[in-house]
Amino acid sequence: MKIALFGADGKVGSVLAPALTAEGHDVTPVELGDEVELAGHDAIVDFTQPDAVAGNVLAAVGQGVPAVVGTTGLRPGRLEEIDAAAKQRAVPVFIAPNFAIGAVLMMRFAADAARFMPRAEIIELHHDTKVDAPSGTARATAGLIGEGTAIHSVRLPGLVAHQEVLFGGPGQTLSIRHDTMSREAFVPGVLLALARLDTLPPGLTVGLDALLD
Ligand code: NAP
Repeated sequence: MKIALFGADGKVGSVLAPALTAEGHDVTPVELGDEVELAGHDAIVDFTQPDAVAGNVLAAVGQGVPAVVGTTGLRPGRLEEIDAAAKQRAVPVFIAPNFAIGAVLMMRFAADAARFMPRAEIIELHHDTKVDAPSGTARATAGLIGEGTAIHSVRLPGLVAHQEVLFGGPGQTLSIRHDTMSREAFVPGVLLALARLDTLPPGLTVGLDALLD
């Protein structure tokens, strides 16, 4: 596929670019301020920042180009706007708050545990340059186990992306934890989303979970 990679010089983008090329994709790197001609591209991939992502995706959709999005922290209302624009142009847009398969399993197991142990809190830990808090994964997990679940955000150098869901009941606790050790963890999920793009319905599909069954 011919792919425009928005955020190619970023922490995730700089791991993704060579990985996509190694898989046979033709990658156009796009950085902030670049004039980009999207005509002829099969998809965009966006790992940028919350203020930039919606504009990038809407520009792609407006030109009939599908999108795979990892950027988190979209402003409220932007998802609905992207969904409406993508449906109008009959273009699929795939957004995942977490492209690491272990993180998706952590969310599944947490949702299962919450059926039996309803008291839980989420601790999410990320590198200190992450712009948004709480993380998209923590908010998605809270949505699965119960809106209003407390989320604690830690931002420190040395961390990559980690989350623990801590359940408590009389006389016992249960911890379900996922650790991303390097950004290579996100590559297989992005490749899967690209491979499945043309099977997705027009509009927005959210979450790697939707591609795993
Ligand atoms: P990062 O290192 O800050 O990289 C972001 C890159 O995007 C930077 O090179 C930045 O350039 C560039 N950029 C900003 N605005 C742009 C625009 N309009 N067009 C093109 N490029 C633009 O951040 P990161 O750690 O790679 O993370 C990127 C995003 O992905 C964050 O939202 C993060 O939370 C998310 N993320 C998601 C997952 C997932 O699995 N879904 C995993 C990891 C990270 P400048 O430096 O010049 O601003």
